[in-house]
Amino acid sequence: MKVCVLAGDGIGPEITAEALRVLEALRGDGLDIEFEHALIGGCAVDATGDPYPEATSKLAREADAILLGAVGGPKWDALPREQRPERGLLRIRSELGVFANLRPAILYPELANASSLKPEVVSGLDILIVRELTGDIYFGQPRGIEVRDTQWGEQRVGWNTMIYAEEEIRRIGRVAFEAARKRSKKLCSVDKMNVLECTQLWREVISDMAADYPDVELSHMLVDNAAMQLVKAPKQFDVVVTGNMFGDILSDEASMLTGSIGMLPSASLDADNKGLYEPSHGSAPDIAGQGVANPLATILSAAMMLRYSFGDEGAALRVENAVRKVLAQGYRTGDIFEPGTTRVGTRQMGDAVLAAL
Ligand code: NAD
Repeated sequence: MKVCVLAGDGIGPEITAEALRVLEALRGDGLDIEFEHALIGGCAVDATGDPYPEATSKLAREADAILLGAVGGPKWDALPREQRPERGLLRIRSELGVFANLRPAILYPELANASSLKPEVVSGLDILIVRELTGDIYFGQPRGIEVRDTQWGEQRVGWNTMIYAEEEIRRIGRVAFEAARKRSKKLCSVDKMNVLECTQLWREVISDMAADYPDVELSHMLVDNAAMQLVKAPKQFDVVVTGNMFGDILSDEASMLTGSIGMLPSASLDADNKGLYEPSHGSAPDIAGQGVANPLATILSAAMMLRYSFGDEGAALRVENAVRKVLAQGYRTGDIFEPGTTRVGTRQMGDAVLAAL
């Protein structure tokens, strides 16, 4: 398998290095994997003037998977929009057509105090939000702001279009059903079918698909209730599938239940499970270069790569279990440190994961 490594800016190179050490250790155990490195974000702007240069695009298109650190930083904040590091991220996502965004929110029992919810409500939380990433009201046409006659006289109105084609729903549905199959075989589809025709279609299509996945228990929930249930009793969920806008909001809500940004991986997949894997956090310029960043979100993103793009569940579990073990052993980077645990830096955390592997 060919992996395109895009370390990016800020803490990106530090955390990506640790994930690569973990993958390399598995290579020693028979995993057939090759790495090619390229530039994205601010470092690419500095070298070429473009946050997503053609050479990077070529490598990313040819690779089986992409491992990305993070992009951005104050150095590039004053640049015009097209040259900003974050623009590189949007371009690679859209060029690769990664329509399925998988965001697990796992609260390891050892980190239960990091959550803003009571430990007994969240301890052991392990949910996966599957968000459609390239459709819905964020991309639907027509859209705009214009002056119109209204009951309050002539004034500006703004409007957007929530739209999904059946096949668009089916392809994200397939990703979600397959993911549920690999987990505890429970899938909850979230919509607003009581008021929105678009999501009524969503519910019909997802319901029809259930016949193809008789081993998966499908339920439906309205989005307002889902938002409430996520903070009331989050452990009732396993895999949740929803559209772009609801998924945007619910995945942020779910990830924050865990309270620790340095722990959260993500995957964005296309129809062939080619994926872009990256931590959910940014480039953390405030701690960049100090060797203190938490590499676990990136290491867990590499585990997602093993699972979804390489179909190697065993290797993915080995990495995830190694992370569990170092947490149980009491190793903590600064972001998850609490008294009574052992504070370590980025490299030492990588060492601990390798030892646990
Ligand atoms: P951020 O996620 O980079 O940092 C928020 C806070 O969390 C900071 O205090 C940081 O030190 C801490 N933090 C983040 N990751 C950590 C880790 N692995 N270990 C320990 N602490 C960690 O968000 P921000 O400060 O809003 O953004 C900083 C830059 O990152 C901006 O330029 C922004 O545009 C960019 N950004 C990039 C991505 C991405 O590459 N996917 C995502 C979000 C933000």
